[in-house]
Amino acid sequence: MIDIHRVTKSFATKAAGFVNALNQVSFQIGDGEFFTLLGPSGCGKTTLLRIVAGFEAPTTGKLLIGGVDAGALPPQKRPVNTVFQSYALFPHMTVAENVAFGLEMRGVARPDIERRVKDVLSLVKLEPLASRSPRQLSGGQQQRVALARALAPRPKVLLLDEPLSALDLKLRKEMQTELKRLQRETGITFVLVTHDQEEALAMSDRIAVMSAGSVLQIGEPKQIYEYPANRFVADFIGESNVIPGALFGRATASAVSVRPERIELSCASNSRQGRVNGTIVSVTFLGLDTLYEVELEKGGRLRSRSRATDKILATGQAVVADWPDSVERHLEN
Ligand code: ATP
Repeated sequence: MIDIHRVTKSFATKAAGFVNALNQVSFQIGDGEFFTLLGPSGCGKTTLLRIVAGFEAPTTGKLLIGGVDAGALPPQKRPVNTVFQSYALFPHMTVAENVAFGLEMRGVARPDIERRVKDVLSLVKLEPLASRSPRQLSGGQQQRVALARALAPRPKVLLLDEPLSALDLKLRKEMQTELKRLQRETGITFVLVTHDQEEALAMSDRIAVMSAGSVLQIGEPKQIYEYPANRFVADFIGESNVIPGALFGRATASAVSVRPERIELSCASNSRQGRVNGTIVSVTFLGLDTLYEVELEKGGRLRSRSRATDKILATGQAVVADWPDSVERHLEN
């Protein structure tokens, strides 16, 4: 559905000369995929989304949408619609009028507009609120109106720029499930921009992890979590212990990464030989599990997460840390 080919974007600024927001980015997004651009602030994800929407032109490179070169197409001619972080609803129009607006602009016939508004409001479960004004809605309901409005013209691709960031945690979780359902029911390709790795893992078919204008890894959530390609991805997705140093039998690897939930701690004793020995320096009870920080005898620290809440170890306790070989991931950099 979307083919991004060696796209580069640089912005001219007064102070810093040129800012390279995107460096030779290439990848494809399949028809009907829930695809997420994930990365820290300033990595270029919004710029890439704006290029797909047609609000920015790439400095170099090519963009195909549905096999068609989109380079010369203005935003309204692309089979794409965007849901913005701010929702951008019209305050003087009712919910139904907000949803109908884009259809009127596209010249859809009146009876069709009425039917489509009804269908799409039912899809986002807002039919009973059709005649309210946006002011009379909660944040979550406003978000649903923004979604309904973007879905009404039946775009092939829906672009979502941090659409849940204004919602509180509980509502955000509900809307994650809701977005996933909408995507499945409509079969539309969704491209989501977020800096929230949990959100990305929960919703996406595939994730592109970005840093400083480049895509570092693309894969399914499980694959990215279990097999981070490099140190940045290991650190950014979930928590990781990255242990530096060359590894036996591996000429190229320079570090090994182990997830905290894979590390098992037990009380140190003469009969017990673990992989590494250390002392617990902090214990944080997190409800579902407990997070331990261990100062290692040979230097450095490890974090371990354990579900066993019945025998919580104490600060100052000498421990051995163990993990199976199979959970170690070797990182190139
Ligand atoms: P955030 O999550 O904070 O929105 P982002 O990953 O979406 O970040 P972008 O907004 O794509 O990042 O910005 C990428 C880089 O390009 C940043 O360094 C930003 O300052 C720069 N940039 C973006 N738009 C412009 C512009 N119009 N002029 C100059 N620099 C820009």
